[in-house]
Amino acid sequence: MLLFYFVVGICIGSFLNVVIFRMPIMLQRKWHKEGVDILNLPPDEYKKIDQYPDLFNLFMPKSSCFNCNTPIKYIFNIPILGYFLSHTRCWSCKKPIPIQYPLVEILTGCLFLYIGYLHYDIYYTLSLMIFVSFVLVIIFIDAQTFYLPHELTTPFALIGVLCNLRGMISGGLLNSIIGGFIGYFSLWIINFIYNLITKKNGMGHGDFRFLSGILIWVGISGFIPIVFISSLLGISYFIVLYLLKKIKLSQAIPFGPFLGVASIIVLFSNKYFVL
Ligand SMILES: [Zn+2]
Repeated sequence: MLLFYFVVGICIGSFLNVVIFRMPIMLQRKWHKEGVDILNLPPDEYKKIDQYPDLFNLFMPKSSCFNCNTPIKYIFNIPILGYFLSHTRCWSCKKPIPIQYPLVEILTGCLFLYIGYLHYDIYYTLSLMIFVSFVLVIIFIDAQTFYLPHELTTPFALIGVLCNLRGMISGGLLNSIIGGFIGYFSLWIINFIYNLITKKNGMGHGDFRFLSGILIWVGISGFIPIVFISSLLGISYFIVLYLLKKIKLSQAIPFGPFLGVASIIVLFSNKYFVL
């Protein structure tokens, strides 16, 4: 049974990889088109801004190499195995396949396995799987692009409300609603004060919305542990990068990945953290 959860996890992870890769490209196209529309530029200003086909969404075209666009053979599309069967390179252009692909699949597989091991009822199990899938996608997209799009955080929050109508995860709908408000406005206030002092934005609205969504899922009791753990992780990561001279003091790092990791830690250990 646990193996079943793991296999479902790596297959879902394979789809999450598609979302992580394609969604930023779809967003860039959308923003570019909106920009052209708003500025009232002639239609030919809408030139292709990437090398991908015109029809490009989460399901079309079929998976192809991110570098040379050659369609990937079915055998190499098998989660995890395909990565090793193709000797970690595209079979056509020999460009190395990013390690992120098998990593996301293995991570999703392990998290789903753990959810199966917790042995909750089917609704709780499915809810946790949806939570983990959204959080993983957001972590990787934010880490790579600094985008934390509302196209992800809004459905994430809304599904969180649905799953908690009877307080299945947060312990009560009121817990979720208060969590959602506090999550948004706590970071908003921190950023407002930071902005008054430094005239810069320390965080984006995406971070506010993401923490809001997370607390709708886990409830207000997750607020202090999640903010504490994510700040600790973020600051430690920054210090390590700084000591390795890979980042300057003035440079920013995305905060979403740390919020995401902290939310998974807290959700899966909430019996220790409930305040
Ligand atoms: Zn290729």
